[in-house]
Amino acid sequence: DAEKVAALLGTHIAEYPDFPEPGVLFRDITPLLRDATALRTVIKHWVSMLPEDIEYIVGTEARGFVLGAPLAYELGAGFVPVRKAGKLPGNPASLRYDLEYGSAEVQIQQGALPEGARTLVVDDLLATGGTAAATVELTRTFGVELLGASFLIELEGLQGRDRLPDVPITTVWSIP
Ligand code: AMP
Repeated sequence: DAEKVAALLGTHIAEYPDFPEPGVLFRDITPLLRDATALRTVIKHWVSMLPEDIEYIVGTEARGFVLGAPLAYELGAGFVPVRKAGKLPGNPASLRYDLEYGSAEVQIQQGALPEGARTLVVDDLLATGGTAAATVELTRTFGVELLGASFLIELEGLQGRDRLPDVPITTVWSIP
């Protein structure tokens, strides 16, 4: 019952105008995280939307950790963190990507994903798609079978999907 879940998300995701900078309407998932019943309902529904036989969830720092780990647990999959540069030990694989102003770098640990592993990328929110595109590109360097990318929230107006043309995308809650 996608409608029930959408209603739940409507009441459990807070909006903060002009955070962290002017012009951004920030979607805060913490009300969802702290409501035990709502969190469980949403994770269970999300799991039901995902492809079969996922072996690894790749989650993006930091809210992709909080949501990706319970998805992995429910699926019986492993969890692999994608972190900002300088946080992971052991000479991690890196990818630098452009932001609106400047650039950022994401990393995954060497050997974290076996070749051919059935892998899904997860984050809380798809906005412009820059973060997801970089995460997908870095994930693919491991030679995995990328099953897609999945988000709790999609801001449709920002057309993030266009940055991921060859990636099957699932979103729990699409905001026009
Ligand atoms: P983007 O790379 O533009 O798709 O931005 C996605 C990343 O930035 C995700 O990790 C989100 O958590 C965060 N993000 C972008 N826009 C918002 C927003 N309006 N509210 C909350 N988080 C956002």
